Amino acid sequence: MKVDVLTLFPEMFAPVTGSSILGRAGEKGLLYINLINIRDYSSDKHSKADDTPFGGGPGMVMMAQPLFDAIRSLAAPQEAGLDTPAPAGRRPAGRRMIYMSPRGRLLDAALIRELAAEEELCLLCGHYEGVDQRVLDYWQFEEVSIGDYILTGGELAAMVLIDAVARFIPEVLGSSESVEDESVYSGLLECDQYTKPRSYEGLTVPEVLTSGNHKEIALWQYENSLALTQSRRPDLLRAYLEKEPELSKAEKKILQKVVAKPPL
Ligand code: SAM
Repeated sequence: MKVDVLTLFPEMFAPVTGSSILGRAGEKGLLYINLINIRDYSSDKHSKADDTPFGGGPGMVMMAQPLFDAIRSLAAPQEAGLDTPAPAGRRPAGRRMIYMSPRGRLLDAALIRELAAEEELCLLCGHYEGVDQRVLDYWQFEEVSIGDYILTGGELAAMVLIDAVARFIPEVLGSSESVEDESVYSGLLECDQYTKPRSYEGLTVPEVLTSGNHKEIALWQYENSLALTQSRRPDLLRAYLEKEPELSKAEKKILQKVVAKPPL
């Protein structure tokens, strides 16, 4: 997958996109992040990229000119250039254009899966009071929010989106890991996890996990997962039950027991 990122602060990305799973995905050529410094496209001699808002008010607004030129640079060569019309659909080379914005659609599992099916994305990181609306309208940006709070800029939000989407790209995760087994994606929250030693300062691991009985372990994990979901995310549990999951007799018994009990 290729992700073009329009930003005023490209230096923010390397520590995140160059480390761990994202770093390895980059090295293997599974994920290519193309950072575009919006300021490089400013026609102002001081590389100005923001100005005061029309209508007054506090703060600055990111200007149309550097953004239009930066976006045009993404188009196929015959589409680029000030004198040529905008590419079809005003989406350079068909990319899905996303403006990271607290006004947008909330980034959830459904949207992550949708975006992961794309071959190319273009993310715009805002700053200050935001972006001149003409940029968003002309280039048909969708607005996507990572939550009901305000960040200083769109870079952290873009990194959250890239990280979550990258986990769905085939081969990005190790062969033993499956993104679908994780909390939320599996329909339930993941069960509690423990590692060695068995006892740490008198704190012990649930015995069943060290029993070697795989069937019992799987049932314990299922029960723990159900109980956690019931107490923390009853909405998820409701959706899980509506889907009528295929369960073994033993799992059905556990499900009935957990659902009959009041939440933890
Ligand atoms: N004045 C804007 C408003 O009230 O909607 C907020 C601007 S915010 C200080 C600066 C930039 O941070 C935004 O343009 C956007 O790119 C990014 N941003 C802030 N909060 C965000 C969120 N919850 N999700 C995604 N991006 C966000």
